[in-house]
Amino acid sequence: AVVAVGSCMTDLVSLTSRLPKTGETIHGHKFFIGFGGKGANQCVQAARLGAKTSMVCKVGKDSFGNDHIENLKRNDISTEFTYQTKDAATGTASIIVNNEGQNIIIIVAGANLLLNSEDLKEAASVISRAKVMICQLEVTPATSLEALTMARTSGVKTLFNPAPAIADLDPRFYTLSDVFCCNESEAEILTGVTVCSPADAGKAALVLMERGCQVVIITLGADGCVMLSRTEPIPKHIVTEKVKAVDTTGAGDSFVGALAFYLAYYPDLPMEEMLKRSNFIAAASVQTAGTQSSYLYKKDLPLHLF
Ligand code: ADP
Repeated sequence: AVVAVGSCMTDLVSLTSRLPKTGETIHGHKFFIGFGGKGANQCVQAARLGAKTSMVCKVGKDSFGNDHIENLKRNDISTEFTYQTKDAATGTASIIVNNEGQNIIIIVAGANLLLNSEDLKEAASVISRAKVMICQLEVTPATSLEALTMARTSGVKTLFNPAPAIADLDPRFYTLSDVFCCNESEAEILTGVTVCSPADAGKAALVLMERGCQVVIITLGADGCVMLSRTEPIPKHIVTEKVKAVDTTGAGDSFVGALAFYLAYYPDLPMEEMLKRSNFIAAASVQTAGTQSSYLYKKDLPLHLF
């Protein structure tokens, strides 16, 4: 099973011809609400591929919170440890996108920041019984650290996605990561290495590996990803197929969710093969609009991906 300790966010998206100025009111031409949050997105992708999943997270006791719980259940995710609080609203991302695709985003993490130590202790049984834990940085770093520590203590494989990245990440995150997976800009923030090519990614991965991770993966959008492991300390570039990108939002989360699925259910596959498959699944997610709505289901997978 896969357990996600992370965030649920409601995306409130307005499409406008241009971004408003300070104090200005403008008309948009479309509005939609989407389910997001890196934790939930990754968990949904793993669940759609057939993983037994649990979402350990906190939402508000409000209609967005209720909607998240319904959405998780619809995706066959256990919500036994999806907590609801009266003390904060469900996390939101208010997003304005103009015709050029430029955006302004305000995230109010709300209830996500109230996920705490007691909550994790309550969820200890589901954490210790999982094969893989996925964790990101949209809950407090202290909560993520404690979750990773609990997983490590129980022999649960940890897949850590340091997103959104913070420059002075607590060094324990590296030693607690069996697999450390980030994108180019996160790798740059964490290492100071400018990442513009697979070769650069290899350099950044070496820096991250030296901090104590077992396996480092840096995703490179249409260029696939680069991996580095303690057992094979030479960076390897895993390319992906060329596809027409329509909406790349949530591609990284699709990738991490898919990787969690393979780590939990096909642990004997070579890492390179897991990454090829995760590339394929994430590439599929960029070919249609939306975040979770563009994630593949098991039934859509070509046979060779099982
Ligand atoms: P993020 O969404 O965090 O910015 P990336 O852009 O690196 O992450 O994308 C994550 C993964 O999604 C990539 O490693 C790749 O597998 C897939 N992907 C993203 N964009 C494309 C694209 N344009 N074509 C094919 N695959 C893509």
